[in-house]
Amino acid sequence: AEEVGGGDKEVVKEYFNNSGFQRWKKIYGDTDDVNRVQRDIRLGHSKTVENALQMLKDEGSLKGVTVCDAGCGTGSLSIPLAKEGAIVCASDISAAMVAEAEKQAKEQLVSSENGVSSLMPKFVVSDLESLDGKYDTVVCLDVLIHYPQNKADGMIAHLTSLAEKRLILSFAPKTFYYDALKRVGELFPGPSKATRAYLHSEGDIERALRKVGWTIKKRGLTTTQFYFSRLIEAVPM
Ligand code: SAM
Repeated sequence: AEEVGGGDKEVVKEYFNNSGFQRWKKIYGDTDDVNRVQRDIRLGHSKTVENALQMLKDEGSLKGVTVCDAGCGTGSLSIPLAKEGAIVCASDISAAMVAEAEKQAKEQLVSSENGVSSLMPKFVVSDLESLDGKYDTVVCLDVLIHYPQNKADGMIAHLTSLAEKRLILSFAPKTFYYDALKRVGELFPGPSKATRAYLHSEGDIERALRKVGWTIKKRGLTTTQFYFSRLIEAVPM
């Protein structure tokens, strides 16, 4: 796909503040007004969130662990992380998404659950490229699909620079290219919607990580009928 300057990012931001916000809030929610495709994507995405949470917990308790959830959407991962006692910074390029995540966090986070006290995440409107600071863990789920690989390299490099210990990243793998794009094309921004969803090859992601001295430690894969997401945990080499 051809692009000029920050074109993609502006389109993505506009989309997730408007029609994309309405659409994805529904998909990530639990109401009945979703069609069959949206319901399938809801299921797939919830598995990705569950797998990411498991990867995070595998290394021990999350109590007091600092996590940056870059591109947090409606808070699908940030909220359960806070429930585990993690200190979460949840950010998104879309102000609408951040407001929704904050609203849901206020509804769902009671001061103490299972004896673990959850801290309200810090909510920030920011594109991931502008984030700074240091976190034990950086997570970025289902965001790269909006960017071609030439942008993804820089995004990955920046995310690793924020992470002390690990980066958990998910992306739509190129293996499932054809059908996936055709079928979920209507869910992506831009005039030619199908061309606005970018799939990434695992090799490309691995190369982008290696360039900055990181390597893949664990892999997971979620596939449903209409949703495909490769999950990786990367660590410094
Ligand atoms: N990570 C969330 C999850 O898995 O529930 C949301 C995934 S949603 C498909 C993609 C999100 O990425 C949207 O909320 C969008 O606004 C955000 N996003 C897209 N480009 C971004 C960027 N450059 N920086 C930060 N957030 C971005």
